[in-house]
Amino acid sequence: MKALVTGGAGFIGSHLVDALISKGYCVHVIDNLSSGRKEYLNSSAVFHEFDISSADAHQLIIKEKPEYIFHLAAQADVSRSIHSPIEDMHINVAGTLNLLDACRHYPVKNFVFSSTSAVYGNTGSELINESQQPSPLSFYGLSKLTAERYIKLFHDTFKTPFVILRYGNVYGPRQTPKGEGGVIAVFHEKLQKNQDLKVHGNGLQTRDYIFVQDVVEANIAAAIKGRNMIFQISTGQRTSILQLIALLKKYHNKEFHYLHSDERQGDIKHSCLDNTLAKRILAWEPYYSFEKGMKETYSSYSF
Ligand code: NAD
Repeated sequence: MKALVTGGAGFIGSHLVDALISKGYCVHVIDNLSSGRKEYLNSSAVFHEFDISSADAHQLIIKEKPEYIFHLAAQADVSRSIHSPIEDMHINVAGTLNLLDACRHYPVKNFVFSSTSAVYGNTGSELINESQQPSPLSFYGLSKLTAERYIKLFHDTFKTPFVILRYGNVYGPRQTPKGEGGVIAVFHEKLQKNQDLKVHGNGLQTRDYIFVQDVVEANIAAAIKGRNMIFQISTGQRTSILQLIALLKKYHNKEFHYLHSDERQGDIKHSCLDNTLAKRILAWEPYYSFEKGMKETYSSYSF
């Protein structure tokens, strides 16, 4: 079975490539290494250093005809999307469109797209489900939502099968502090440098943190069992910044401090995603508790 992983040198993509290879898939990777790293790439994967928006990427798909396409390559930095909305649109919208267009040339089995809870914006809901009306607050959220709409319309027009996965805050080994939901990576990096942690506001704001291996398993389940639907990939549990710091205090054997700073403007207070649909249709559920995932993440850093 042949799979293509775009963004396969990145945080989530590199773990997905490892898992697919261990399951016996022949894996091709497209990545331009803009935020990914060559050392994360599994040596059994066939690597193509292309931009997803390029003619090379389009031609490669038509030539290799991968049964499954896992599309993770993206500009995933919210603040960069605000500084450079045009670049963000070129990568996240035009890049996705380029891959979809190549799928018109052969019967792809499934196109699995990595999307985000950033499509929702500030909902005010305690627990968001997939029927919530999206209203993104950042260009990043908007470009991901626009890519979702192209995927849906490609299906309606050309019958291209798809699954859209909207993730909570993904964390784990190999995460860059720059990408989406990077607070856990940011805090680990600060600890490595013996610097104080910075907490915006009172630290009681909560997020739905999901461990990277659970996201990998969701991608694989979605490719096989998902059909033209949107799923939220999350734990459905809220964890505050102060709870996160308490766990770090438990693992870290040196004393460290944290300082409160002003709340960030536009920051969402609480974000939690219902995962009932993914559990029911994909027969998937998160395996890692926050404590277990954090322990693995902490162990992957050298202090
Ligand atoms: P990442 O930055 O680690 O990985 C993205 C990969 O895409 C990198 O290897 C990068 O080099 C590559 N890339 C970027 N632009 C490219 C281009 N134009 N052509 C080819 N390759 C390109 O990010 P990640 O955290 O692993 O995110 C993976 C996907 O999951 C993204 O689509 C992101 O939007 C989505 N997502 C991530 C989170 C999270 O918490 N990390 C949450 C929700 C959604």
